[in-house]
Amino acid sequence: MVVIGAGAAGLMCAIEAGKRGRSVLVLDHARAPGEKIRISGGGRCNFTNLHAAPRNFLSANPGFCISALRRYTQADFVARVERQGIAYHEKTLGQLFCDGSSRQIVEMLVDDLQAAGARLRLSTSVTAVAKNDAGFALTLSEGRVQAGALVVACGGKSIPKMGATGFGYELATQFGLRVTETRPALVPLTLEPTMLARLAPLAGVAVDAVVSHRKTRFAEAMLFTHRGLSGPAILQISSFWREGEEIGLDMLPGTDLFEALRSARAENGRQALHTALSAHLPKRLAQAIAEQDGARGNLADLSDKALRRVADAVKAWRFKPSGSEGYRTAEVTLGGVDTRDLDSRTMEAVAVPGLYFVGEVVDVTGWLGGYNFQWAWSSGWTAGQVV
Ligand SMILES: Cc1cc2nc3c(=O)[nH]c(=O)nc-3n(C[C@H](O)[C@H](O)[C@H](O)COP(=O)(O)OP(=O)(O)OC[C@H]3O[C@@H](n4cnc5c(N)ncnc54)[C@H](O)[C@@H]3O)c2cc1C
Repeated sequence: MVVIGAGAAGLMCAIEAGKRGRSVLVLDHARAPGEKIRISGGGRCNFTNLHAAPRNFLSANPGFCISALRRYTQADFVARVERQGIAYHEKTLGQLFCDGSSRQIVEMLVDDLQAAGARLRLSTSVTAVAKNDAGFALTLSEGRVQAGALVVACGGKSIPKMGATGFGYELATQFGLRVTETRPALVPLTLEPTMLARLAPLAGVAVDAVVSHRKTRFAEAMLFTHRGLSGPAILQISSFWREGEEIGLDMLPGTDLFEALRSARAENGRQALHTALSAHLPKRLAQAIAEQDGARGNLADLSDKALRRVADAVKAWRFKPSGSEGYRTAEVTLGGVDTRDLDSRTMEAVAVPGLYFVGEVVDVTGWLGGYNFQWAWSSGWTAGQVV
């Protein structure tokens, strides 16, 4: 059997199939395996999440991921990491990171791959696949190879600079599988030029925020950038947002700012608004809010109505992003191979025996926080039991 893609999902699948005695060849056009693992989590790889559950994944069919996530859980992967002696810690919200380097995860997988007897061929592109009586004939950048079974673990389109191509979606379409709409996700959002100019002085300012889109809310850090907004809270909501829609921001969760400003006015009316705001917000943000229309001057000059407007600008800011930074910086691709055409217990294409899709190429997309790797491990493991 052949696995296209030596990323998290492809390596996991190859290891499991190799352990079962299958003859396995993994092909990847990159020069090294697990490149996205290596760069992930700021070089420390947020390799799973203690709380991973189906609710943390987006898909046109939210139930599809249940089977794989149950069969190979975060606890299974953590146990594997512990057996290897890799030190790790919980950073926040159940997110597990290596203490040392993400390379340790790549090394662990490559060691396992070798121990399982699977072969790895790098710097090799798969350019075409054709079905024949013996399975699948693969055309490579150099030569050809025949596979009895084929696992497509090509990942998504994010970070084209690293070799992401969308080849997996092309293969799915070629073999008659449906592909849902794909779009960049876990991605910084951009702002239209006028708003961007107004917020430009805030680039680099970070706050803890609650960001919301319809009924979805995330309480995490957000960051003003030269292009718009970023930080975990924004990346999370980007997976839910669509062009033309509004996003809500509370940049001071847990504080009734209107009441706090009224108290400050009662105590010291000669205090400047931006000084009063600085007690709650980073200085530059306090300054920018205070400079907004109608909110200049000392607290004593400001009516309740004006204070309410200021509080709303901080706690109930609603805005329409102009777009996202796109695949160039997106951590993942939302959407992918339509799960209606895959068997959730095996990851095999329902109508094409011997053809499997695992990992990010499938229409299952995790939140930020280690969920995407857990999906890669779980789906790769699941296919590896049967392929
Ligand atoms: C900057 C960044 C940071 C991230 N951090 C985290 C994190 O901390 N935690 C988390 O859970 N997720 C994180 N992610 C998401 C995570 O990396 C992916 O969801 C995960 O790597 C998907 O695994 P995969 O095996 O499906 O695909 P990939 O890891 O993308 O692997 C696909 C492989 O297929 C190869 N390939 C593609 N086409 C071909 C072809 N035609 N021929 C040969 N080879 C081909 C590619 O070279 C690649 O090696 C991050 C992503 C990015 C971009």
